[in-house]
Amino acid sequence: MTRIAVIGGGLAGLSASRALQQRGIHTVLFEAGSRLGGRALTDELDGLRIDPCAQLFGSMYENFLALVRDVGLGEQLVRVPGRDALWRDGRAHEVVYGSVASMATSGGLPLFTRLRLGGMYAPFLARHAHDLSISAPEKAAVAGLDNESIAAWGEREIDEAFVSALVYPQLGAYYAASPDDTSAGFYHILARYGMDVTLYAVNGGVGSVAERIGSRILEAGGELRLSSPVREVTLTDGTPHQPGPVAIRTDAGEETFDGVIAALPAPLLPPMLRGAPEGLQRWLAEVRYHPAVALVLTLDTPTSGRFFGLSFPRGTTRYVSAVAVQEHKGIPLSDRNRGALVVFSTPEVAGTLVGMESREVLDLMLPEVASAFPGIEKRVTRARVYRWPEGAPVMYPGYLARVGGFRKDSPEGDSSIVLAGDYLYGPSVEGAVLSGLAAADRLTSRLRIHG
Ligand SMILES: Cc1cc2nc3c(=O)[nH]c(=O)nc-3n(C[C@H](O)[C@H](O)[C@H](O)COP(=O)(O)OP(=O)(O)OC[C@H]3O[C@@H](n4cnc5c(N)ncnc54)[C@H](O)[C@@H]3O)c2cc1C
Repeated sequence: MTRIAVIGGGLAGLSASRALQQRGIHTVLFEAGSRLGGRALTDELDGLRIDPCAQLFGSMYENFLALVRDVGLGEQLVRVPGRDALWRDGRAHEVVYGSVASMATSGGLPLFTRLRLGGMYAPFLARHAHDLSISAPEKAAVAGLDNESIAAWGEREIDEAFVSALVYPQLGAYYAASPDDTSAGFYHILARYGMDVTLYAVNGGVGSVAERIGSRILEAGGELRLSSPVREVTLTDGTPHQPGPVAIRTDAGEETFDGVIAALPAPLLPPMLRGAPEGLQRWLAEVRYHPAVALVLTLDTPTSGRFFGLSFPRGTTRYVSAVAVQEHKGIPLSDRNRGALVVFSTPEVAGTLVGMESREVLDLMLPEVASAFPGIEKRVTRARVYRWPEGAPVMYPGYLARVGGFRKDSPEGDSSIVLAGDYLYGPSVEGAVLSGLAAADRLTSRLRIHG
C-alpha cells in the first residue's frame, strides 16, 4: 500500500491528508505542536474559547467552506454582520469590513478619497474582475498588476488616505503586512472580493474544524503523530518513471515513505531537506514571511458598541493596528456576561514584539487599546500573548509572478516531495486548503497512483 508522510497539521496538511485518504492512500501526518490547526487556532483562556489568529472567512473561500461542511460542521458556520470601524479623530466610524462600497460612504475617510473609491476604484476592480482570482493569484501578474506595491499604486491612483486609513489597517490586522511591501495585485484581489462578500465565523472556533478533520482522518485509518517535529527529510533517486522513496526522521527514529507533502511555512523547510532538487531550494529561498503578534485580553464585562474589528490608520498608533471584539463577532462567547479582545500588532513592530516577554508586550499595547476603549485596564481578567515568527507570507511585488512560475515550471521536478502551504496561493485558510488539495493532486499524479 502506498504510504505518504504529511509534515504539518495546519489546514494545508490536513486538507492534503484527507484528499489523499479519499483516494485510498495511507497517510501519516507529523505535527510539531501538541494540537492540530497551526495558525487556525482556538484556545481557551479564563474559561472562554477564543480564536487568537484567523477570525473571519469570506463566502469566496469555496474550498474551505466545502471542507467545513464535508466534515459535518456546516451548521457551525455562522454568517456574521461584518461590522467594522475605523478610528479617526478620536472616535470609531463604522464601515463594513473590506467593502469598497461601504468605505465609499463611510465618515471614516476624507471626502476626496471616498469619491475616488466610488468613481475610480470600484469600476477598476469590476474591469479587472477576471484577473483577480483567489485560486489563481498569478493572473494579476499576467495583467501587469504585480509590478509595484499597493502603497505606490494607491498614492498615485487614489490618495494617501486610501493607503494610510484603508489599506494599512486591513493588511496589518489580517495579513501582518504593510502597504509598502505588498503587491498591488494582491490587495486588488482582496478588494475585488470585498465588493460583494458574506463573512462567516465558526461557532466553537476555527480550531474545531482542524480537530474534526483530524478525527475524520483517524476514523478512515490514517495516522496522526502530534508533538512529533520532523527533523530531516531525505529524498533518494528513483527511476525515470518512479520517484525514489523518502526518509523522514523524527526524535522517535526514521521511517520510509513513498512520498511526502511538506505543509509547513516555507522558511522552515530548507534546513531539514536533503537531496532536494536545486530548483526547489532556490524557489523556497524566495519566500519570505512577516512575523505576527496578537494579545488576547479577557474582560469582566462585554464591550459596548456594535463593531467587531476596530482598525487604526497608519500613524495613529505605534503598536496596535486593530482590535477584534470577540463578543461582537456574531457568535456568542460561552459566557455572555464577559468580553474578550484580540489585539493585533502593527507590521512595523511585530518583529520586535515577537521576541519580547509577555509582560512587556502587554505594557506597550494596553495603553493604546485604552485610547479607544477607555477604562479597559480595570476590566482585564487575563492576558495572553501569541507569537508567530512565520505569521504570514509576504506577497511582495513580483511574488504573484513567482507563484505563477511555480505552477508553470514545477521546481519540485519529478521528486517525491510536494509543497503545500498558504504561501502558494495567499495568506488565508482558503489559500492553505487550496494548496493542500493541489499538493494531493500533484503527488498522486507524480507517483502514478490511481485512487
Ligand atoms: C494574525 C493572523 C490573522 C489571520 N486572520 C485570518 C483570517 O481572519 N481569515 C483567514 O482566512 N486567514 C487568516 N490568517 C491566515 C491563516 O491563519 C493562515 O493562512 C492559515 O491558517 C495557514 O495554514 P497552513 O496550513 O498553510 O500553515 P500553518 O497553519 O502554519 O500550519 C503549519 C503547521 O506545521 C507545523 N510544523 C512546523 N514545523 C514542523 C515540523 N518540523 N514538523 C512537523 N510539523 C511542523 C506547525 O506546528 C503548524 O501546525 C491569519 C493569520 C495571522 C497570522
